[in-house]
Amino acid sequence: MPEPQNPPSQLPTPTTTTFSLGDLSRTLQGLVEGRLWAKVLIGLFLGVVVGVLLGPATGLVSPSVSQTLSAWLALPGNLFIRLVQMIMVPLIISSIIQGIAGGDGGSQLKRLGPRVTIYFIVTAFVAVVIGVVLALALRPGDLVDAVGLGAEPVATEAKKAMAAHDVPGVISQLLPTNPLASMVSGEMLSIVIFSVIVGVALAELSKQSAAPIMQVIATTQSICMTVTRWAMKLAPLAVFGLMSQVVTRVGLNAIVGLAGYMGTVFLGLLIIVTLNAVVLALFSKVGVIRFFRATREVFLLAFSMASSAAVMPLTLQTAEEKLGVSPATAQFVIPLGAIMNMNGTAAYQAIAAIFLAQVYGLDLSVGAIVLLVTTTVAASIGTPSSPGAGVVILASILTSAGVPVAGVALIIGVDNILGMCRTAVNVMGDLVACVIFDRNPGPVSPETTTAQGR
Ligand code: ASP
Repeated sequence: MPEPQNPPSQLPTPTTTTFSLGDLSRTLQGLVEGRLWAKVLIGLFLGVVVGVLLGPATGLVSPSVSQTLSAWLALPGNLFIRLVQMIMVPLIISSIIQGIAGGDGGSQLKRLGPRVTIYFIVTAFVAVVIGVVLALALRPGDLVDAVGLGAEPVATEAKKAMAAHDVPGVISQLLPTNPLASMVSGEMLSIVIFSVIVGVALAELSKQSAAPIMQVIATTQSICMTVTRWAMKLAPLAVFGLMSQVVTRVGLNAIVGLAGYMGTVFLGLLIIVTLNAVVLALFSKVGVIRFFRATREVFLLAFSMASSAAVMPLTLQTAEEKLGVSPATAQFVIPLGAIMNMNGTAAYQAIAAIFLAQVYGLDLSVGAIVLLVTTTVAASIGTPSSPGAGVVILASILTSAGVPVAGVALIIGVDNILGMCRTAVNVMGDLVACVIFDRNPGPVSPETTTAQGR
């Protein structure tokens, strides 16, 4: 019998392995070169792997070592978030003022302002209704036992909080008497209102009087975008660390126990994504595929950072540079959307509230559901765009619906994951609104068109 030319033992020589590894790394490098989304995706994947390895399920490291390691791994992510938060207030103020007073002297607000606000409220309402219908139809709360959740003491607290629930008072407080104090304490909705008022006032001035401050505002915006570009360099590492921390923290048991609840939220989010795609297909020139291609980086980052505010600069950049939205529309719609437009959060809050009511065996009357819908629409608009904010605001929704706030303890373990998903959906809503309002800007006067130079 002839000798085999390549005996099996000789096949996997070290040279061959080195060559294929080098090849693989070159291919990966080529793929990743200049593609932030690919780097972020790899960071995300590796983060999950490392998170699982460090988590309690494998038992590879002790809980305290795992905690220390994941805190270090999350450092770039926390630096990223803080860097972006650092420029958030000046960026929101300068973008909104530019959006209103830049170029066409205030007509942007007149044309877009009311329609965008109505759009945000209507889509929040639709999202809440989707959440309510899903939660009532699928009844995920029936799968969970409420024993030991401690309904009693919290029900009393709920009553106290409800008495303090003064809607006209809350509305009037949105108008800041001291804008600097609002900036210091990061009250984003008040900052938006302040910026809109300053923008409108600036638009009333003659071009000559407004010019010096408009120049400062334009430069402020450029500085913020430059810092954002620097922060983006940290993005893949940030995503890696934050993902590994989340995966280490979220126990597998919690996920299994709450699979019904999580599944209902995911389904709600999926329906909202589909509706957004339909709106996009019907009312914009940007095809759905092109939209997702252009926006994948933002979504991946929004998912990883769990904060619409943290990715707002990138959302703005994507709208202008990749989706071709005019700066005037993007600078007005994106900051407003990042603060107000949270369809994913709206659906989630409705589902979570009904889920907990079911867990506690509370039967919600039609009146209670109508009240829940109204409260949730308002609450989702008022939810800050920071990580995990949705579950904090959920507490006030539960209070007004008479559901014990202690129930939050049951869902908090899986909230990181849901927070990431709903944030990506929130950001999608902002970009879709931006694209469709840019395509359908409303009645435009001839001078406006000239001023915008479109
Ligand atoms: N983190 C979300 C956002 O920024 C809000 C939430 O927690 O639902 O859009």
